[in-house]
Amino acid sequence: MYEYSGAIHIHSKFSDGTGSVDEIAKAASEVNLDFIMLTDHNTLLAKDEGYEKWFDKTMVIVGYEINDTNNKNHYLVMGLEELIGTFRVLYNGELGCNLTAEEYVAEIKKKGGVGFIAHPFEKRNQYPEHPAYPWTAWKSKDFDGIEIWNHMSEWVEGLNDDNKVQRFLHPLKSIVAPDKEAVKKWDEINKDRKVTAIGSIDAHAHKQNLMGFYTIEVFPYKVLFKSIRTHVLLNEEIKKGDNANFGKYKKDIVEALRYGKSFIVNSYYGDGKGFRFFAEYDGATYNLGDEIHIDKKKSKNIIFNVYVPKEAKLKLIKDGKCIEEHTGLGSVWDEIEPGNYRIECWLGEKAWIFSNHIRVTDKRK
Ligand SMILES: [Zn+2]
Ligand SMILES: [Zn+2]
Repeated sequence: MYEYSGAIHIHSKFSDGTGSVDEIAKAASEVNLDFIMLTDHNTLLAKDEGYEKWFDKTMVIVGYEINDTNNKNHYLVMGLEELIGTFRVLYNGELGCNLTAEEYVAEIKKKGGVGFIAHPFEKRNQYPEHPAYPWTAWKSKDFDGIEIWNHMSEWVEGLNDDNKVQRFLHPLKSIVAPDKEAVKKWDEINKDRKVTAIGSIDAHAHKQNLMGFYTIEVFPYKVLFKSIRTHVLLNEEIKKGDNANFGKYKKDIVEALRYGKSFIVNSYYGDGKGFRFFAEYDGATYNLGDEIHIDKKKSKNIIFNVYVPKEAKLKLIKDGKCIEEHTGLGSVWDEIEPGNYRIECWLGEKAWIFSNHIRVTDKRK
């Protein structure tokens, strides 16, 4: 398997970000990101203008974030070459979507796109001009996944007058863990159907006047690119700079995200490259996103293996509950019962790596 590390959910000048795609891509390449996913609000202009390509070492992939003005939901769309919904100009000059969340989520699925609910439980109220956009359309069963970790939301939600200067000067230090409510919801929904997770930065590089003294760029793109990343595992190699196969590579990455052959890393606490969580059962190997069907007639033992690139506290989570914990460079667990399993790696009180699930079931669909 080949592993690639990406930064997802980025705003450029094509919506409310302050950076040009060239600047953003240059910053990404300098910190060795294999891919970045632009998600400007309700627009694919970056793609239309030819920015979906290799920039040095980094693939720039263009998706979009639906900003539906009716009920204020945000939804990340990938792998779809068209905008969904009836778009009209909003008060701030951006385009808006007139469909309800249930409608556009269903439409995106029907057309073969991949969709992730953005910042599902966002609560921030620190900036009236940047209100919270929590998800309200949980009745929908058509979304592929949930953004369980959003740098921007976590950072803003923890902001107060006492820590403001520290948090502005050190935007990466204050990030602790994926949103608890989002993780809980993600595990819950997985009891019914497979829903995968991504981590993102929601980068804008807003310019902000701090304490009235000077204007600073809040979270320059390059700084954020060192924080929350999503790594994908692919069966085929991506050749750097190969624009002829760009479309295939993009599809492989987007499909890995849909499938959950991926894990989330806070790179500020260490490179996650090399993390693996896989199962062995009846002579076959199963990876992130896979489902194991236990054959009762065979009664073979399922074995879970986990490896991490440096020592960490490893938690085996089954259906939302931690059932085993071990500190080290890896672990092996056997006699695995049916359920949905994932791994959390912690460094002290800080979350480092969160994997997607391996599903174990004793009934064939
Ligand atoms: Zn958003
Ligand atoms: Zn956003």
